[in-house]
Amino acid sequence: MDIDKHSNFSEWFSTVLKEAKLVDLRYNVKGFIVILPWAFKTMKLMYSFAEAELEKRNHAPVNFPVVIPESNLIKEEEHVKGFGGEVFWITHAGFNRLEERLALRPTSETAMYPLYALWIKGKSDLPIKMYQSGAVWRYETKATRPFIRGREFLWIETHDAFATKNEALSQVMEDIEILNVFLWDILGIPFIVLRRPQWDKFPGADDTYAADTLMPDGKVLQIATTHMLGQRFSKPFNIKFMDEDGREKFVWQTCFGIGMNRIYAALVAWHGDNKGLIYPFSLSPIQVVIVPIFKENNKEKVLNYARGVYKKLKSKGFRVLLDESEKTPGFKFNEWEFKGVPIRMEIGEKEINNEGVLIVPRDTGIRSFASLNELVDKVSKEGKEMMKRLKEKNWKEFEKSLKSASTFEELKKKLENGGIVRVPFCSLSHGIECYNKIKEELKAEVRGEKVGEGKPKGLKCVVCGKEANHFVYVARQY
Ligand SMILES: [Zn+2]
Repeated sequence: MDIDKHSNFSEWFSTVLKEAKLVDLRYNVKGFIVILPWAFKTMKLMYSFAEAELEKRNHAPVNFPVVIPESNLIKEEEHVKGFGGEVFWITHAGFNRLEERLALRPTSETAMYPLYALWIKGKSDLPIKMYQSGAVWRYETKATRPFIRGREFLWIETHDAFATKNEALSQVMEDIEILNVFLWDILGIPFIVLRRPQWDKFPGADDTYAADTLMPDGKVLQIATTHMLGQRFSKPFNIKFMDEDGREKFVWQTCFGIGMNRIYAALVAWHGDNKGLIYPFSLSPIQVVIVPIFKENNKEKVLNYARGVYKKLKSKGFRVLLDESEKTPGFKFNEWEFKGVPIRMEIGEKEINNEGVLIVPRDTGIRSFASLNELVDKVSKEGKEMMKRLKEKNWKEFEKSLKSASTFEELKKKLENGGIVRVPFCSLSHGIECYNKIKEELKAEVRGEKVGEGKPKGLKCVVCGKEANHFVYVARQY
């Protein structure tokens, strides 16, 4: 397609979304998109991987209503301050005005926690670890962009309750571990987990930890967050348990949001190249596409052979397609390449004579021969090796975008080419003025400090020159 992913990401992304048939943007409500099968099949696979990781760690699925009565939503003061302006309201049902307005959930704390208060009586009812997969709605006022910022988005949210603060804190660490497995091991998306400044946390949380990834234009995108809620919700929602010492105590809570739309955008952005989309083998709706190459005189022979190969792969559980359409082989190559199918197989007279197929991985485009006997093993192996190459490439690129600076001028200079710049900073609780200066003068954000990273010794804040208590990561954001 000849659009460079890095220098012209916006056009690259729009072209891939449209030409690979990932979305239809013609739905007539602003900020709402139609996700098409070629994207949604992959998103469903993403869901199944993420849900499996949650369930491995004892989270149970649950399904709460999408409507939240206004009286629930306003119970936690900061929460309603944070979300109030973004809520879609239902005011009527049929011909009647509702006595109480209903919010379309912008997130589910205030839907779920009144029930948690009923479910939790004694210590034996704890912990509760539940997750819900679905959509939430937020009236975004910033410009919307498919998958990156919309008014309806798909995610998974977990809501956990514990008897002690320590258990809640270790849940936050477990959530980060889940992100490592899901985002990096399975999806191959590089990211960094940062504890957000106090002025930028989830409305109603004690602390917010967020996964930021980089897009090809050098801007960061927040793709998941886990929050230490402490007792900020358990008190207004009266979620208490009778402890062993005979005293009633409020529970400690965490919640965790895995933003599927944005993670999908990051998947497309990280793996794709200037020829289009590249889907990892485990996530592609079609893992292997077989393209038969024939003339009129050997058409039946080639097709029969190709059908045999198709059946063999299908019986082994691969998602495979035999492209028998009337288009030319060259057209088919381009089409499936653009749509990111990880492995293409070419079958012609020569392959039949050699009792094998040609295998072409999407990322390198290098053809190699595989005999029918080794076919199944070779496909699995190629799929794994391709993912390994994609991850290596992504990691190198991500590392290259991580920089550091020790003065404001240096920070300014390093931000020019995008990426994430590490600088010493005074305070994530009280440094809002320094943050504002970075935001106003450099149009960048203080994203927070890296979990587990030590404190700077003898360094000064790049903005105010006072003693630095954190290394923070600064970047331009979506
Ligand atoms: Zn400062």
